[in-house]
Amino acid sequence: MATPENKLAFDGGWDYAPAPESTDHARIDKRYGLFIGGDFVSPEKGRYFDTINPANEQKLARVAKGSELDVDKAVKAARKAYAGPWGRMKAKERGKYVFRIARMIAERSREFAAIESLDGGKPIRESRDIDVPLASAHFFYYAGWADKLEYAFPGRRAKPLGVAGQIIPWNFPLLMAAWKLAPALACGNTVVLKPAETTPLTALKLAELIADADLPPGVVNVVTGAGDTGAAIVTHPGVDKIAFTGSTGVGRIIQRALAGTKKKYTLELGGKAANIIFADAAIDQAVEGIVNGIFFNQGHVCCAGSRLLVQESVADEVIQKLKDRMETLIVGDPLDKNTDIGAINSKMQLEKIDSYLEIGQQEGAEMYQSSVSVPKSGYWCRPTIFTGVAQSNRVVQEEIFGPVLAIQTFRSFDEAVEKANNTPYGLSGGVWTDKGAKIFKMTQSVRAGVIWANTFNKFDPTSPFGGYKESGVGREGGLHGLDAYVRLEA
Ligand code: ADP
Repeated sequence: MATPENKLAFDGGWDYAPAPESTDHARIDKRYGLFIGGDFVSPEKGRYFDTINPANEQKLARVAKGSELDVDKAVKAARKAYAGPWGRMKAKERGKYVFRIARMIAERSREFAAIESLDGGKPIRESRDIDVPLASAHFFYYAGWADKLEYAFPGRRAKPLGVAGQIIPWNFPLLMAAWKLAPALACGNTVVLKPAETTPLTALKLAELIADADLPPGVVNVVTGAGDTGAAIVTHPGVDKIAFTGSTGVGRIIQRALAGTKKKYTLELGGKAANIIFADAAIDQAVEGIVNGIFFNQGHVCCAGSRLLVQESVADEVIQKLKDRMETLIVGDPLDKNTDIGAINSKMQLEKIDSYLEIGQQEGAEMYQSSVSVPKSGYWCRPTIFTGVAQSNRVVQEEIFGPVLAIQTFRSFDEAVEKANNTPYGLSGGVWTDKGAKIFKMTQSVRAGVIWANTFNKFDPTSPFGGYKESGVGREGGLHGLDAYVRLEA
């Protein structure tokens, strides 16, 4: 329903002129090999797959499909670099390389941002202002630790683990690569990295950058491919550590494969975060926080605020304001600087989201979607909310990974905690109130790795990130993130 404030927008009075980011500066090759031992090489079995732009379904490039033979080659190259120049290098010198990577990402940020939006569908505003600067910041942060590990672990000697296998998802392709690579390199490990099959391009660009940064060959290897390529990394006997971010289902498979081996591992898995709005919260800011938490980046965020718990006395007001705001969100061309919500990352993901829209309605929930128009080709989902849901509904319990919000109400503090904790996940959460004491009590009561207060989805390299329950094992980021890449000796 239109309120006086946004009526203009419905009348078209606030239409924005298109503001497309140019892509002239973004070089994408027709075909990419695997980055092994410092060079791009052809895959042993000669197989390639297409990576497409999800906003128009057009092919961007052919990318090598790594087999177990390629993974073996990459692990051997990583081992050689570990036993050789990288392992022998003084920590201070190692740190300089990591600093160099950080600087070079910042220098090439426009190209990285454009390619991230082309390959993944996320709005350029996000790739430009969030993904790429944070990726650079992670390298800067961990570069600083390289020669100071004795202060991170006082009284202990921190030794690298060896070769780290790192498998990352498609929602933050460059940033996840940075989360994984920066601490691994700073601690003196070498790496075999596998980007997700729908978003390999920025990891391949990063490989080019790493070659330009003159890192010794084999310190970082990038092997593209799908699940079987990832599985070959997990089971390779020459890998000392696995770092995985992705779905809880695949996380379970990996955990089973690693049981009984000496490999150290960290798993960052799914989430079903609750944004909890108390009646005393600043409502307009809270509505903006809800929008930011679930609709931006298409809900493709493992710590997305995919559930809203709102105190009953303000529920009608919050839901109405949310619906009004949803009408003003711009869904469309990821490269347009006005766009709020870009393309869904893949056809498969869109089908998954659509199936949850069906499930929610079949479960008896009431679905509301913004009336915004979406482009004809490509993969799109309008911002969607479900009201009238029960705690046991699948749209409340399961990770949808799309711009879909399940809304529940509560009357008391305890009811909010009980509902927030009642899912298999525990990755993140948000609390909105003007009472500091309530914030502290809530952060102690909600079992989640990260809880934001009066804000949402804020990241910083100094802050650890990770989950409880089925959301994963271990922490990344900050001082805690170093722990995952070292062996401590007395
Ligand atoms: P999402 O649901 O986010 O796509 P997935 O868990 O399917 O998450 O994928 C995350 C990453 O894990 C991707 O790089 C994917 O190729 C990889 N992957 C998928 N299956 C396996 C597997 N069995 N073993 C190792 N890696 C896998």
